[in-house]
Amino acid sequence: MSSSKSFLDQLFESRILHASGVDGLYARSGTFEDVVSRFETFALTFGEHEITEAMVFPPGMPMADFETSGYMKNFPQLAGTVHAFCGGDHDHMGLLQCMAAGEDWTKGQEATQVALIPAACYPLYPILARRGALPENGAYVALQSYCFRHEPSKDPARMQMFRQREYVRVGTEDQAMAFRETWKERGQEMMKRLCLPHEVDIANDPFFGRGGRMMGASQREQALKFEMLVPINSVESPTACMSFNYHMDNFGKAWDIKLQDGSPAHTACVGFGLERITLALFRHHGLDVAAWPEDVRKALWG
Ligand code: AMP
Ligand code: ZN
Repeated sequence: MSSSKSFLDQLFESRILHASGVDGLYARSGTFEDVVSRFETFALTFGEHEITEAMVFPPGMPMADFETSGYMKNFPQLAGTVHAFCGGDHDHMGLLQCMAAGEDWTKGQEATQVALIPAACYPLYPILARRGALPENGAYVALQSYCFRHEPSKDPARMQMFRQREYVRVGTEDQAMAFRETWKERGQEMMKRLCLPHEVDIANDPFFGRGGRMMGASQREQALKFEMLVPINSVESPTACMSFNYHMDNFGKAWDIKLQDGSPAHTACVGFGLERITLALFRHHGLDVAAWPEDVRKALWG
């Protein structure tokens, strides 16, 4: 993995990604997107007989549901909300003058009813809750969404806008736990088939502030989160390309998702970072997809 040029610069130079001038915000080439969609098709073959339905979300979710999620309590540093101009003619004049003077024109923007989705499964829970008690077998949903996290970085694997493909299990504690264990195994099988070096390890989310450190420690202690680590930008600190999460009944309680007996549902999700997995493939198999190893091509091109 040694080269004098950074991996990000190599990606720009070979026009696999295109710079925008903002760290973590890149245009994807046709080649990059082709690998993303082939990986998605590959991933779906692992769970297609279990899912009860599929959904794709727009990049935004209702602000009210975002508030219910508790995201601002745990990760305020990563959140993004959509604001818009809501004034009249007079305000518009002021805004244009402000822009012309090179001043901060964004102060007059007002909050809309939309927040950017921070994790692909968040918009699912209120949809399930609105349907009433879950069916006996719970729900097993395949999702995809763009996500936003305010974490600008020169590491190409740390984007501000990226996609997650997820499977989400909503049901009893046993159903959620069994799901997560199955996907830990499947995730490793997927990485083997893609010939990527990998390791599953216990993990915690980046909770904010001093209190956050305790939350992270408690999450680790209870073994609620595992990650699939693959070296992308550095061998010493490999990158999480998948995560395997058990939320206990926290989301069931927050959004009032009920089992048939009225008790709160337990939830678990497995998230695949589509850009990260695609970048890992380019990193390990080279920038020319036609020259990727036969086993990898077989897995993705069939
Ligand atoms: P998480 O919800 O943090 O467990 O994230 C699920 C997956 O999304 C991770 O395993 C990554 O593959 C991907 N991911 C998280 N943050 C980023 C980011 N900033 N840029 C690209 N992919 C990300
Ligand atoms: Zn999730």
